[in-house]
Amino acid sequence: MPIVAIIPEPNAPVEVREVAEPELEPNSALLEVEVSEVCGTDVYLQQGRLAGVPYPLVPGHVSVGRLQKIRGELFDVDGERFSEGDRVTFLDVHRTCNACWYCLVAKAGTRCPQRKVYGITYGLDDGLCGGWATHVYIKPGTRCIRLDAAPETFMAGGCALPTSLHAVERGDIKIGDTVLVLGSGPVGMNAVLLALMRGALRVLCIGAPQARLDAALHAGASATLNFETHDEAQRLNWVLENTGGRGADVVIEATGAPEAVVQAMRFTRDAGTVVVVGQYTDHGETSFNPHLDLNKKHLDVRGCWGSDFSHFYRATQIAAQRGEAWTQMKLISYGLNEANEALADVKEGRVLKALIRP
Ligand SMILES: [Zn+2]
Ligand SMILES: [Zn+2]
Repeated sequence: MPIVAIIPEPNAPVEVREVAEPELEPNSALLEVEVSEVCGTDVYLQQGRLAGVPYPLVPGHVSVGRLQKIRGELFDVDGERFSEGDRVTFLDVHRTCNACWYCLVAKAGTRCPQRKVYGITYGLDDGLCGGWATHVYIKPGTRCIRLDAAPETFMAGGCALPTSLHAVERGDIKIGDTVLVLGSGPVGMNAVLLALMRGALRVLCIGAPQARLDAALHAGASATLNFETHDEAQRLNWVLENTGGRGADVVIEATGAPEAVVQAMRFTRDAGTVVVVGQYTDHGETSFNPHLDLNKKHLDVRGCWGSDFSHFYRATQIAAQRGEAWTQMKLISYGLNEANEALADVKEGRVLKALIRP
């Protein structure tokens, strides 16, 4: 019988339960989970801070495992058929319809109103749909991707890797740019690595605590600043000192703090680009001066919501072929019965990347 760790309702501790093995529909599969993860979103899910979440919920939206049972046929993006035993990850977003106005006219699949996300907007009543479990039900239409990288290498990036890929793409980073990353959590750390891959000459990072800033330096950041010991004016001065007095060409906000969005605008050079990727949950409002902070600066400020198949696919390719940088990230693993501990450690920032090994 599959075993799952569930959040029964907002603010309740995680419980481990046995559940019935799902009946496989045609062209579906049962995945035996090797590794899933605990990310900031899971902390917010436990706190009930996301809208439209059906509890009880099995969290864990990005996972790696082996296809244990396949009913019917499943194919990869190259048209090759998956076999039982294949190691895969899968796009956590299901049912992007490719038929609605957002999908077809706006070409913004991550805003498709039909989409459902494993471990976030699919609850236990929708089936075995989260990675904090021995098994995940791969529903028909779910896009699996073969994983050639070691599971730990891909999961060191985890959900932050495709998210950051999308963010650097939105930032339209050019060869030789100076990029500033605000935040040194998993998304910030991945943004440092990917900004360099995308051609940034220098990447600056403002975050905390010091251990994470050291990790950012190790990942290739040329300078870091601890926001806990520097106020906004000191941060601005530091950015200007490091950018010839102009500000960064591209700033990627990955903090979760609304005021950081305004700081991102102030730390960007005139006619530069700001990408906001750190406001996945609603942390309230902030204010800015439209004349000074936006219009006069001739800024391009872009939101960045979720990720699509292209980001996931490329994340697996990067992990397989350029994964060295990710192998150095510190991972801590927890069993299903240690999920509460894992959530607490992620919430307090005691670990950079927490994995669940069921
Ligand atoms: Zn996540
Ligand atoms: Zn759609």
